[in-house]
Amino acid sequence: MTRRAVFALAVAACLAVAPARAEVTLKGPVEQGALVIGKTEPGARVTLDGESVMVSRRGYFAIGFDRDHGPRARLVVASPGGTETKDLKIAPRAWNVQSITGIAPKYVTPPPEQIERIKREQALKRAARPRDTDEDWFAGQFIWPSKGPISGVFGSQRIFNGEPRNPHYGVDVAAPKGAPVVAPADGIVRLAEPDMFFEGGLIFIDHGQGVFSQMMHMSRIDVKAGQHVTRGERIGAVGGTGRATGPHMHWGMLWRGAHVDPSLMVAGIGPEGAKPGMTAK
Ligand code: ZN
Repeated sequence: MTRRAVFALAVAACLAVAPARAEVTLKGPVEQGALVIGKTEPGARVTLDGESVMVSRRGYFAIGFDRDHGPRARLVVASPGGTETKDLKIAPRAWNVQSITGIAPKYVTPPPEQIERIKREQALKRAARPRDTDEDWFAGQFIWPSKGPISGVFGSQRIFNGEPRNPHYGVDVAAPKGAPVVAPADGIVRLAEPDMFFEGGLIFIDHGQGVFSQMMHMSRIDVKAGQHVTRGERIGAVGGTGRATGPHMHWGMLWRGAHVDPSLMVAGIGPEGAKPGMTAK
């Protein structure tokens, strides 16, 4: 064998044992209810459990794990530089049980005459949940949309007037009626409705790539659908409209249909998320 052939074989062996890998970093706890922000090379292709995930021009992407996500997920990032496969372990979280009494019976079991209205509003909400906005506003730091004591946390099992219901998919801030509500991050308003049956005054803000915030029970709405808002910009006022026992601001977040815990997006909150007794400031 010539020296050149030996050298070529050695190079080939090196390539075989150490294939090039895509650069990828993940920010945020990998756990149930978390939205994790990834950064890779622009132009990379990303899949989560085989489903394609958008990547922004700057290389940012978002992946979310809902409250009841199983223990594993596979993230594959393929870039011109190579492919990286990450087998993610989704840490389980413990959820509170929250018993709420004093809710008007019509909100626990809606009367038949409200069913049409509820269906109409469901269609409106579905249509306002974009999955493919090519922006990465979600990659910036989030702030609380209202200030005050935390009165409800993400993931609690809810019991309304003694009847078990869906978990609480958001965080509640007990701010007084009329207190300001601001955009928690940049985005585009996709829905601004003053009077929804369950949510009362409701705003959706699209933060890009299927990540969006929903603010509920508002007494006033100061923005319109299609409007661009920046973090900290006033969007309305706290209220107790819809299915609420008193004034508070409910902030929920979704990623492509998965409910995630908004409190994890705010600086200084640990991996357990906001706890009752904390103050949103
Ligand atoms: Zn709530």
